[in-house]
Amino acid sequence: MSALLLDGKAVAAAVKEEVGAAVADLDYKPGLATVLVGDDPASHTYVRGKRRDAEQVGIASIHHELAATVHQDELLALIDSLNTDDGIDGILVQLPLPGDLNGEVTVERIDPEKDVDGLHPFSLGKLVLGQPGLRPCTPSGVMRILDHYGIETSGARTVIVGRSFLVGRPLAMIMSERGADSTVSVAHSRTKDLASVTREADILVAAAGAPGLIGADHVRPGATVIDVGINRTDDGLVGDVDFDAVVEVAGAITPVPGGVGPMTRAMLLSNTLSAARSRRGVA
Ligand code: NAD
Repeated sequence: MSALLLDGKAVAAAVKEEVGAAVADLDYKPGLATVLVGDDPASHTYVRGKRRDAEQVGIASIHHELAATVHQDELLALIDSLNTDDGIDGILVQLPLPGDLNGEVTVERIDPEKDVDGLHPFSLGKLVLGQPGLRPCTPSGVMRILDHYGIETSGARTVIVGRSFLVGRPLAMIMSERGADSTVSVAHSRTKDLASVTREADILVAAAGAPGLIGADHVRPGATVIDVGINRTDDGLVGDVDFDAVVEVAGAITPVPGGVGPMTRAMLLSNTLSAARSRRGVA
């Protein structure tokens, strides 16, 4: 194995330690509300993890579980009550929502000050404008892991595979903003000759949800490869990158599991701390 392993678990532990120390210095306990609708096992696992993380760093976890049959109006009424609850600093609605429930309408109902997932149009608008605000957790986690390992983004060519509002598009904005200063291309399902595009990357981020999409031929020798994909297969959890092949070519690589996943969870805690500080007027 030649590439440096970018250990998301270790970096996430460092972030949690930082957040825990900062929370301990506050004279109040920040609160994170999680809203889980339906019985999707993966969503239950994710939310359980987020709640446990919160408790570990001293953030109160307030959990609401609703049946998949809940009416959209009832869900919105719950969001309204969380918006006005002074003990709640962050609201996370686990997506995707089941059935006919509308995720966009639901997220838009969250008070932007409490939008710790960073997916409200207000937060995404701030991002596009280059203004400070709550950033989506997965792109923030990617930036944090690069920073931790001293991987230079300034002037680097970054190729992101995937253009979702959750990962690809916000990450493209963050990578290209002043400070990160990367030159960014976004590839997607209509991109022709994907390998020729991805081979240009100094930093290649795979966020397509397609197991094994990125092979050794897609990677310039020495490139940093960040695998955001989480795909459940008969062989267990795998990313979008053929790890065994790419590890021989890349300069640095994140594993799945243990790469971006733990970082996403850690950045939710960091956002909850930021939301609590800014709501309660602590710098
Ligand atoms: P999505 O389905 O909303 O978007 C996928 C994107 O990938 C689309 O823009 C599509 O055009 C592109 N794409 C799909 N197949 C492609 C192909 N063959 N070639 C090129 N582009 C292709 O998915 P998403 O919500 O952005 O999630 C992407 C992946 O990241 C999923 O596996 C998801 O589970 C994972 N994810 C992981 C984390 C984490 O914390 N690690 C967080 C969010 C999402």
